[in-house]
Amino acid sequence: MAARFDDALRGYAYPVHRRDGFKCVYCGLDGSTDFSAWLSLSWDHLLPNGDPRRDDHEFIVTACLFCNVADNQYFARARERGISFDGKTRAELVSQRLPYVAKTRSAYRAFWDERVRRSERAPQPTDTEPAS
Ligand SMILES: [Zn+2]
Repeated sequence: MAARFDDALRGYAYPVHRRDGFKCVYCGLDGSTDFSAWLSLSWDHLLPNGDPRRDDHEFIVTACLFCNVADNQYFARARERGISFDGKTRAELVSQRLPYVAKTRSAYRAFWDERVRRSERAPQPTDTEPAS
């Protein structure tokens, strides 16, 4: 008998992640080649609460945790943004959401570049100075 898991990564989200190649559909983070990346995979509903197809695996995709929550107002603001969900395929729903996720990622990237990223400075004379 196969082991059963009731968590997301090894259990209920596993078939969706396998279908998606263990990659975030938004940023491409690949959980099949990097264990830490795999740990950060989640599943992402493409349809809002109340949609009868919301829990159908066809309309759930693999997303890293950041992309999953990058635009957490996505469903709440859908109407004002002119977004609809009816009759769209999984690929169309991903394409529809992608610009909102990408916009948030870009803003975080700019912050990271400026304040977090370790600068690649040239070696300084003191780096190679032998201990006296
Ligand atoms: Zn991602």
